[in-house]
Amino acid sequence: MRRALPPAALDAALDAALVARYDASGPRTASYPPAPAWGRPFGAADYRAALREASEDDGDVALYVHLPFCPQRCLYCGCPVSVTRRAEKVDAYLHRLEIEVKRVTRELGTARRVTRLHLGGGTPNILTESQLLVLHQFLERHFAVASDAERSLEADPRHVSYTQLQWLYALGFRRLSYGVQDLHPDVQRAIGRVQPAGVVREAVAMARDVGFEGLHLELVYGLPGQTTHSVASTVDEVLAWGPDRVAVFGYAHLPSLRPNQRAFADAALPTAYERLSLFRTAAERLEQAGYQWLGPDHFARPGDPLARAHRDGVLTRSLMGLTSVSAAHELGLGMSAIGDVAGRYVQMEGELPGWAKGLDDGDLPVQRGHVQTDDDRWRRDLVTRLLCRQFVPYAIMGDDPSVFLHRLRPMATDGLVEFGADGLAVTPAGRYFLRNVAMAFDAGAGRGASVEGRYPRTA
Ligand code: SF4
Repeated sequence: MRRALPPAALDAALDAALVARYDASGPRTASYPPAPAWGRPFGAADYRAALREASEDDGDVALYVHLPFCPQRCLYCGCPVSVTRRAEKVDAYLHRLEIEVKRVTRELGTARRVTRLHLGGGTPNILTESQLLVLHQFLERHFAVASDAERSLEADPRHVSYTQLQWLYALGFRRLSYGVQDLHPDVQRAIGRVQPAGVVREAVAMARDVGFEGLHLELVYGLPGQTTHSVASTVDEVLAWGPDRVAVFGYAHLPSLRPNQRAFADAALPTAYERLSLFRTAAERLEQAGYQWLGPDHFARPGDPLARAHRDGVLTRSLMGLTSVSAAHELGLGMSAIGDVAGRYVQMEGELPGWAKGLDDGDLPVQRGHVQTDDDRWRRDLVTRLLCRQFVPYAIMGDDPSVFLHRLRPMATDGLVEFGADGLAVTPAGRYFLRNVAMAFDAGAGRGASVEGRYPRTA
């Protein structure tokens, strides 16, 4: 673990002028290159070809299943969502999802071993128990889901019940991620999502009582009405519940892409310096409580597998987030889901009508994709190491590392990175600017912010 700077030294390092210099939005690079920069047209035939190529190896598969339904839309939401309270709409989605799975496994084969399964949304836990069972059964029917596969889901604490959690546990789920955002009532009203602390506390207690082993809480900073005080009291309350992992995502304000966010006046949002102060408040409290800072926005207890992987220098990430074990292929199933199959990224149609029509027309509803080049894979590795390990050896920077070092020199002058004997290291102050540092490895540095798939994943 890297050393922490004393607060006074950090105060001096993180001054307003420095923050203003690095106040540039960039892609989240869940994929590299990020989805808006994907290249030539890519359709269902390309996806089928990728699946057939993947069928020729015996690599493990990770499954991401997108369940887009929410009873109402939170004003800050950046996720691909379909608002409904109608169970028959969810039934129809599950029916089509199985058709998508059949078409995928027709190419890939049905014996493929699955080592990781994640249900994201939307709000996966608004599915009824029988809907969850239907989903579970057809996934088990079409894939060889390993008995020790890691099964996780995102859940809204307002829709959790003890019976539901017992049901999920019986289906093999052991990791649960609750969307918390901020516990201050004024902030919750401003973002159109009121969930009193007592409701979340009870949901956490139920999950622990049922036996969930990995409890992950997601906070968001940069919301209207947030103050360092609201963030501090939220983190203190959350720490009292003892989560295994805490994510502190930055709110991405993209009203041209997410019309629900137009409810926020620009003036109501914190400035870049205020955003950094909010995140720093959360990060310092989490570290003081013994949580290990893993990457740009994730923290974990020292005994958590991700924290161990970070200490061992093997932490990595896939489209599904940080991980210590990556699968050979990642399948994204359902509306807007992104996959990474045989060296191709592929994204399903992002709106429910388009996704449903694609399936009803008899093919896979592919919206876009990208054939990864060697250069993409190399840069992705550089960015991943930077974000997950905060260290990049010179030896993997190609024939001429000076190209990158030249770009990074101003950041070294600003105290954000250090040029060590063997590689580039991020300083304690630089951890607050990780995405800026990562942009030095991006062939399209300077492209703006994007909503990529399902981030932030706060049900
Ligand atoms: S933030 Fe979560 S619960 Fe709210 S609308 Fe978006 S996906 Fe649904």
